[in-house]
Amino acid sequence: MQFLICTTCGVQMDESMTQDDVCPICTDERQYVNPNGQSWTTLSDMISSGTYQTTVTEEQSGLQSLVTTPKFGIGQTAYLVTGTKRILWDCVTYLDQTVIDAVGQLDAMALSHPHYYATQVEWAETFGIPLYIHEADQEWVTRPSKQIVFWSGDQLALSEDVILHRIGGHFEGATVLEWTTGNDGRGILLTGDIVRVVADRAWVSFMYSYPNLIPLPATTVAEMASVLKDVRFNQIYDAFHKIVVTDANAAVARSASRYIEALNGNVKKRERQ
Ligand SMILES: [Zn+2]
Ligand SMILES: [Zn+2]
Repeated sequence: MQFLICTTCGVQMDESMTQDDVCPICTDERQYVNPNGQSWTTLSDMISSGTYQTTVTEEQSGLQSLVTTPKFGIGQTAYLVTGTKRILWDCVTYLDQTVIDAVGQLDAMALSHPHYYATQVEWAETFGIPLYIHEADQEWVTRPSKQIVFWSGDQLALSEDVILHRIGGHFEGATVLEWTTGNDGRGILLTGDIVRVVADRAWVSFMYSYPNLIPLPATTVAEMASVLKDVRFNQIYDAFHKIVVTDANAAVARSASRYIEALNGNVKKRERQ
């Protein structure tokens, strides 16, 4: 069975999707349909083209990044956290035997939100692992699988040192991953694009849609910040391989304040961090 993959978002569909259909992820106002028209590929076409590779790179002890080159779909970075368990955070579309060998063994995978679902079911079934998605985003799952575990509530411990937090915002089920023992025990937060590290790496931002630049309401940003205030982390790695290297918890707090002040019409000159 050849499952179609949307070339704009990189998400794989189930067998009911045909070449004449339009991607449900891209027709949502948070994404966009390719201005040249919807186009599809398949994983086997990607593999036989010989065009792509997904590279696994050591970021620091216990943390590896996975990036596909050349850029495919949204171009996100996935991460492999090796704490008490080996957990894949988010997903990239391109998967072949070389990637499988480089990743080795996995215990579980978890997703921040639908834009990075990619070929998540191929990954979960290949590695024989549970795939954790917040139940609030269930409607966006385009290829069902018995590997998918829909979790509920606002927190889920995947292991002794990895905790998922549903913070909402970009999507209702939008989730970030806390790795308590990362960065020599100071804590790392993997955020997908639920919290994005911006050009000035002492700051982050929060959006309903990044490609279409739709902001979030002040109340939502305040709620996201209030959850993260109580999570202990010193660094953030986002889905575009942007990193807040130190003092990341404070960066989230001051960025949320600045965002809310701007929405309320108060943009002012600040000291550089
Ligand atoms: Zn799409
Ligand atoms: Zn997104």
